[in-house]
Amino acid sequence: MKVIDIIKEAEAAGRCRFAFELLPPLKGDDITTLFATVDRLKRFDPAYINVTYHREDVKYVERPDGLLERRIASKRPGTVAISAAIQARYGIEVVPHLICGGFSAYDTEDALIDLNFMGINNVLALRGDTLRGEHSFRPTQGGHSHADELVSQIVAMNQGRMLDAEVDSVHPTDFCIGVAGYPEKHAEAPNAVCDIERLKRKVDTGADYIVTQMFFDNGKYFDFVERCRKAGIAVPIIPALKPFSTLRQLAVLPQTFHVDIPEELARRVERCTDNAQVRKVGVEWAVEQCRELKEAGAPVIHFYTMGKADNIENIAEAVFGEPQIQKR
Ligand code: FAD
Repeated sequence: MKVIDIIKEAEAAGRCRFAFELLPPLKGDDITTLFATVDRLKRFDPAYINVTYHREDVKYVERPDGLLERRIASKRPGTVAISAAIQARYGIEVVPHLICGGFSAYDTEDALIDLNFMGINNVLALRGDTLRGEHSFRPTQGGHSHADELVSQIVAMNQGRMLDAEVDSVHPTDFCIGVAGYPEKHAEAPNAVCDIERLKRKVDTGADYIVTQMFFDNGKYFDFVERCRKAGIAVPIIPALKPFSTLRQLAVLPQTFHVDIPEELARRVERCTDNAQVRKVGVEWAVEQCRELKEAGAPVIHFYTMGKADNIENIAEAVFGEPQIQKR
């Protein structure tokens, strides 16, 4: 089933569904930890599971002659295979992330063909982050510079157009396309208005729905949705949350994700003396956020797990554990 249909079904039923994101294991780890996470969370009837994509990482290794050797390797490969394995094992819809960074348009086409053959019809189309050590995003030769170009390629395949017209008749794909949106603005956008105009471009190109960057202040999300609607963006905007879990995140999350930590949350975290207490505060805060988002009619709440399931399980228990209440 397509994610957009799951969202519409939840909206029509007045339901709020649970969805979460998984990271592929680090190279060398096996898939059982990932399955264990799904085993813990599947009782909350996830609407779908996202699987992140991690582009190659740059590493400098000192050689015996003292010179540094630049090595490029992927730390978390396997997104496509993991997505297929989860969908086959659990029968839950999966949403593999596809990124522009590190991919030529031909690589992307091959990945989409693989997904299509495996019966995966949902993708989240992203630009991807800048390669470590680079100041700005550089597309791979023959690759896309922005997510809207990736959306355009997927839409073309849905319309039966491949990059090269090598075959007379192309079987069209049927991908449902999600894209990312930033309630607190993407770090590289010159201003919030411009960022929303670019988001609208992704939607006008063919994205079916938007998933947000994490936020800790629901007011920022509600304001973002209002600004999107005013700008003519009509597709669903799925809120995404990440529970606070370590003291270090007070500095790391704003720095990495360009999000504000509300004063009250920062105070509660600062009063903690260890990370176990922070995790408790993080769960309580996320539960408060979820209750308000649910009340406001969010059809799905998406959770960034960052590979840790226990706090997500606690939140889901509090928010989605009780029987779903029909609003209408
Ligand atoms: P874009 O939409 O291309 O936007 C990037 C910047 O360029 C923005 O500042 C935007 O305003 C601007 N822009 C957009 N279009 C244009 C245009 N046509 N011309 C000029 N400027 C433009 N990263 C990963 O590497 N792997 C993942 O799995 C992953 N999952 C994510 C999931 C979610 C829900 C979110 C919110 C982010 C995720 N990211 C992931 C991070 C994401 O790749 C980065 O935030 C990245 O910097 C931007 O990606 P984007 O798709 O929003 O890019």
